[in-house]
Amino acid sequence: MMKILVLNSGSSSIKYKLFEMPECASLAAGIIQRIGEESSIIKQESANGEVKFEQPIKNHEEGLELIQSLLTQNDHAIIQTLDEIDACGHRIVHGGESISGSVLIDDQVETIIEEYFDLAPLHNPPNLIGVRAAKKFLTNVPHIACFDTAFHQTLTPIAYMYALPYEFYQKFKIRKYGFHGTSHLYVARRAAKLLNIPMEQVKLITCHLGNGCSITAVEHGKSVDTSMGLTPLEGLIMGTRTGDFDPAIVFHLIRKGYRAEELDVIANKRSGLLGISGISNDVRDLVNKAETGHERARLALEMFCYRLKKYIGSYLAVLNGCDGIVFTGGIGENASILREWTIANISALGITLDHQKNDEAGSNERFINSPDSKIKIMVIPTNEEIAIALETYDIMTKGN
Ligand code: ADP
Repeated sequence: MMKILVLNSGSSSIKYKLFEMPECASLAAGIIQRIGEESSIIKQESANGEVKFEQPIKNHEEGLELIQSLLTQNDHAIIQTLDEIDACGHRIVHGGESISGSVLIDDQVETIIEEYFDLAPLHNPPNLIGVRAAKKFLTNVPHIACFDTAFHQTLTPIAYMYALPYEFYQKFKIRKYGFHGTSHLYVARRAAKLLNIPMEQVKLITCHLGNGCSITAVEHGKSVDTSMGLTPLEGLIMGTRTGDFDPAIVFHLIRKGYRAEELDVIANKRSGLLGISGISNDVRDLVNKAETGHERARLALEMFCYRLKKYIGSYLAVLNGCDGIVFTGGIGENASILREWTIANISALGITLDHQKNDEAGSNERFINSPDSKIKIMVIPTNEEIAIALETYDIMTKGN
């Protein structure tokens, strides 16, 4: 038995979850939001009930100090001392080209995280601050980093290079990295289990559809292509991000007087489902609106599914067919109508949905294909924290 703390440090938040391993039993889960603002919001849930309050928290170190006392003190205490924690797993976004799996964080790994500050300016700096703050509290335990990019390091140059002059890759490390790797790997492993095919043999297309969306082609258990690129902007249409679009649009708009910084914000925060519909990036709202005749809400959702379908088709070609397609993430797990629109009319490729199974709601892992579908279709809830806890547990028990 082992207790593993999982930390996800964002620029103004820390999410944490304490697990008992190997059962993956969640002992406590909490979040601190608005770190550095006038008042921060703290929430923790555990078998001892829910705590929720506000108080100013200056920085991540103060945040971790509070997490420590929430876990160990007063009526809500889950453990008696921090000594009961055996390891700490951290979510880190960018590990670049040198990291292809989860690793023990030493000085060299910290330097690598720093090296990719400019490619992941919103994520890597707070991720590293979180690691350093956690190391001050959990001094005697291994800290393990699980990178969003690591699973995709098996892409070959044919898939990861952009057709730009080669020196851009050499000078600026411009290439496809891919993200959401922890989630794609987790659902791929679960899918292999459900299909009863060894991970080393399975061919899958995994669709992670949340606020950010990405799709991955998995061959012999390894990522061979993925839709996000140098940054998480490329690929599928997302809540507020464009996904693929003609880069000449950027040059054109710069000539019209837009600045690069403005376009960056527009493409990342004001596009996607929100930009097309003009009303929301939330699929629940858009489905409701589309049902009551809002044309742009419907257009946004249909474009979302069309783009996804095109990627599924191209990854089927990359993989020369596959064993299964997996839907995960808030949209992938819940929005049955979008799964229906995406999978509609591709029966010639051996993919057919069971409409009734698709419509059944649930948070369980399940098949939603019809019995005669050559390719299985699955809904598998993703769980990034469990995935990080499992990776950390693996390194603790097997080494890396
Ligand atoms: P994140 O990427 O931030 O982890 P999630 O995976 O939770 O986000 O996904 C958020 C998205 O899931 C939202 O756009 C929301 O529209 C969608 N979503 C959540 N629940 C439902 C639901 N019941 N029906 C349709 N869409 C849903």
